[in-house]
Amino acid sequence: MFKKILVANRGEIALRVIRAAREMGIGSVAVHSTADSDAMHVRMADESVCIGPPSSQQSYLSIPSIIAACEITGAEAIHPGYGFLSENAGFVQIVEDHDLTFIGPTAEHIRIMGDKITAKDTMKELGVPCVPGSDGGVPTLADAKRIGEEIGYPVIIKATAGGGGKGMKVAQSAAEMERAFMTARAEGKSNFGNDEVYIEKYLTTPRHIEIQVFGDGKGRAVHLGERDCSLQRRHQKVFEEAPGPSITAEERARIGKVCADAMANINYIGAGTVEFLYENGEFYFIEMNTRLQVEHPVTEAIFGVDLVREQIRVAAGMDLSFTQEDLKINGHGIEVRINAEKLPNFSPCPGKITQYHAPGGLGVRMDSALYDGYKIPPYYDSLIGKLIVHGRDRPEALARLRRALGELIVDGVDTTIPLFHALLAEQDVLTGDYNIHWLEHWLETNLGNA
Ligand code: ADP
Repeated sequence: MFKKILVANRGEIALRVIRAAREMGIGSVAVHSTADSDAMHVRMADESVCIGPPSSQQSYLSIPSIIAACEITGAEAIHPGYGFLSENAGFVQIVEDHDLTFIGPTAEHIRIMGDKITAKDTMKELGVPCVPGSDGGVPTLADAKRIGEEIGYPVIIKATAGGGGKGMKVAQSAAEMERAFMTARAEGKSNFGNDEVYIEKYLTTPRHIEIQVFGDGKGRAVHLGERDCSLQRRHQKVFEEAPGPSITAEERARIGKVCADAMANINYIGAGTVEFLYENGEFYFIEMNTRLQVEHPVTEAIFGVDLVREQIRVAAGMDLSFTQEDLKINGHGIEVRINAEKLPNFSPCPGKITQYHAPGGLGVRMDSALYDGYKIPPYYDSLIGKLIVHGRDRPEALARLRRALGELIVDGVDTTIPLFHALLAEQDVLTGDYNIHWLEHWLETNLGNA
């Protein structure tokens, strides 16, 4: 096992990794930009190294600085968290070239799944059901129009390199194709340096259901059920739960096995998430994320496992500490994402935290790097905390969420906490009756949000 690992990230996810390492008796190294000198992850790690100025490009994304920090501190492995370098195949290669271990999948798997067209082709071959659409990339507008007619409108045009909800445009009819096609290409080019796009049937009322998978890199893989992440704004998740309110045990076992078998087949190592849209009892693969997800704690809540610990174990060449048969669902988990954002437009709201109080009690977990007096820097993501609750069943989890939200105090900046108070008064949320468009409609109706 490693003696020391470096965490190439910041905020709550850096704390998450440091905590797992500490419980395993592994030393931790934090890296930080000059804007994060007072950040909680720096305080909590055993050691820290300043790797550059505030801009992510020059700090958290600076590969030479991160490798140098490993060399200075003697860290043997790097945990990338999510975002930043977590799905950068080139980084994984460089890490390995320096005789360090990347705590995550291989560069090859990251590359395959990072290109959405290759990912879909690979998954199709592995027997995973996909959204109907173009066979690979769509080079010209004429091709796009032909495919639109073939599969029928509405369709969605997606940048193959896209992510974080960027590079996707819906065309409701042939008349909208030109604009959607050009915009998706332009967004792909400007955000990801790749203007290749493909086309999918646009599903009108699906849920977003994702399967947590885990491989040991030796041909064994398991699934840890699903998460329903349908409550989204601009294709970004805000509320996640496990198990999914609409998924039966049979469906879970069936799609879970398809995903686990696919991962075993490719010798996948580490944590991964296979994302599907789910409509009328059918699953349609959309993409795979080759990293730990923001919403992983709801899965941890219901299975009682530590996914970061497992990531570290398999990266060190050890076996998973559980088999498929060991994994039994216990109760219900819900996570809400607390962002420093001002409603109704969700504009980022960095600033000084004048008071912070985290909720507690049975079944409550608050993953956050906040503290009294902390100044949220304006340079990074607006996620400042995740409140995760666990109950014996969904109604208990909802009651606990309401109670915990009532205890949570974040003063000094605007946050998304009021949104969750409001959502918990909605019948559809209480019954779990929502799809990927529900929240956007609700925001339009209730907050005049466009
Ligand atoms: P990203 O990589 O940007 O997260 P995804 O491919 O995972 O993009 O899609 C994100 C979200 O966009 C999905 O959760 C869903 O809400 C919506 N979406 C993607 N593909 C489709 C589709 N074919 N039909 C309807 N909605 C879609």
